[in-house]
Formats: sequence, C-alpha cells, structure tokens
Amino acid sequence: MLCHNLPFTTVVAGLAAAHCRSWKAGALVFVSGHLHLLGDLIGSKGPEGHIWSVPYLPGVELAWSGQWELNAWPNVVLTLVALAVTFRLAWKRGYSPIGVLSAKADRAFVRALRRRFGEPQGTGS
Ligand SMILES: [Zn+2]
Repeated sequence: MLCHNLPFTTVVAGLAAAHCRSWKAGALVFVSGHLHLLGDLIGSKGPEGHIWSVPYLPGVELAWSGQWELNAWPNVVLTLVALAVTFRLAWKRGYSPIGVLSAKADRAFVRALRRRFGEPQGTGS
C-alpha cells in the first residue's frame, strides 16, 4: 500500500534524478514504477480470486476485473523473456544487474555466460 502509488513513485523518481543528476534517470524510474503498477493491475490476482488493487492516489483505487493470477502463463512468459533479454545484454555488454550487488559476482556471471555462448563480436577480448 505504501509503495504502490503515484506519490511514492514520484519521490523515488526524484531521488533517482537527484542521485544520478539526470532527469532522464528520474523519468526512466518514473516510467518503470508505472510499468510495475500496470503489471500489478493486470496480473496479480491471488489464489483465492482476490483482485489486487492499486491505491494510486488517496481516494483513487485502480482495479481490473480481468486481472489474471500471479502464476498465470502470461507472467511466466514475460518473466522468461525478461530473463532472456537480461542474459543476452549481460553477455553482449559485459555487465548485468548483478553488479548492483557485487562487482565480483557480476564478472563471474558474465564470464560464465561467455564461456557457455562464446565471446560476443566486437569486444576485442
Ligand atoms: Zn507490486
């Protein structure tokens, strides 16, 4: 409830913009926050049929009667596609989101990908 609304998304986007000194970073965080809310709105139904609503603004609660369950096939497909894209970008660029947590783990992850799939062209290594 506290983190699934417009005020929270705006504050986090502002913090990102200030931290990165980039309005583009803030805008991307704002958009990604809203993609998260959209995902919750369309695909977060509970196992007993409970529809997950988004308290977007005080007095404005968003919900969709067509919401699919959290473990429904569209969520599985979207997750697999997102993982495949993330792995491909990590293989090609040489870094991944793991680097946020550990540079050493990120290097090991990229090394494992490149051992498995070969070196991408144009990296010079
Ligand atoms: Zn959520």
